[in-house]
Amino acid sequence: MKDLEALVGRTLDAIAASTDRAALEAVRVAALGRKGTITELLKSLGALPATQRKAAGATINDAKRAVTAALETRRVELEAAELESSLRSGALDVTLPGRGQAGGGLHPVTRTRLRIEAIFRQAGFTVAAGPEVEDDFHNFGALNIPPDHPARAMHDTFYFGDGRLLRTHTSPVQIRAMQRQGVPIRVIAPGPVYRRDSDVTHSPMFHQVEGLVIDRDISLAHLKGVLTGFVAQFFERPRALRFRASYFPFTEPSAEVDIQCVLCDGAGCRVCKQSGWIEILGCGMVHPNVLTACGVDPEGWQGYAFGMGIERAAMLRYAVNDLRLFFDNDLRFLAQFNRG
Ligand SMILES: [Zn+2]
Repeated sequence: MKDLEALVGRTLDAIAASTDRAALEAVRVAALGRKGTITELLKSLGALPATQRKAAGATINDAKRAVTAALETRRVELEAAELESSLRSGALDVTLPGRGQAGGGLHPVTRTRLRIEAIFRQAGFTVAAGPEVEDDFHNFGALNIPPDHPARAMHDTFYFGDGRLLRTHTSPVQIRAMQRQGVPIRVIAPGPVYRRDSDVTHSPMFHQVEGLVIDRDISLAHLKGVLTGFVAQFFERPRALRFRASYFPFTEPSAEVDIQCVLCDGAGCRVCKQSGWIEILGCGMVHPNVLTACGVDPEGWQGYAFGMGIERAAMLRYAVNDLRLFFDNDLRFLAQFNRG
């Protein structure tokens, strides 16, 4: 029984010294397992004389209960400690700021195109699209561009071997729209166009938007009204417009349109070369030959057309001084357009 006291003491010390549940389980097996020290003592009771057996059994069972209770107490302690430690190591501080994933944004040329589309939709225009690979008729012939016109020269146009070409303007979209839906028509055609030209102010691919209105009794006054309204909305303030006589094969009369400089309000600056005016688009009354080519009777119908570069409009609106910035895709440049 003295041995039992010492054994219980050692077992209780081992229980207290256990720092995790695996160690505690090892102590339990050593004492109470099938071949554990206390289990063996209980088994040995049978060897005792009957007179001693009852008292010895009660003593050993008390020891077993004491060890069992100590094991249970320690198990609860260790489980609580493990839970606490796992909560602490997996802690999530919900007050920390987020990781700051940068939001994407629309390219300034796309943003400008959508803005132009929205303004013309409000004025009753529909938005049309067409193929970027065109045939000679839709890109040139139907637009009253005779075979010897400079615009056809190889240095301007990308040709394919079979005579097809990359459209040099979005005018063919208007031709197709007129052929498809007839007149009256009120349409704009935005999209990429291609020219064999590349320097500070030219890119071999850029974006144009062209507009076409064909109806009864349409005059230059309607054109001026629509463009004046467009410019005021696009630049968010009224701008004076100036029409300069010009020449395009597909319009007669033709004009180039300047607006009061958006940077200096007409006072004169480097961008407008001190003139106070900036060219923004070309326009005119649709040439009768174009209407005839599309099966529209020029005696009964007339209208106007206009076209401008979307990059040009974006440069003026955002005061960007180098066309190439739109095609470099430098995120430091593009990210400036992600707000508003
Ligand atoms: Zn200026």
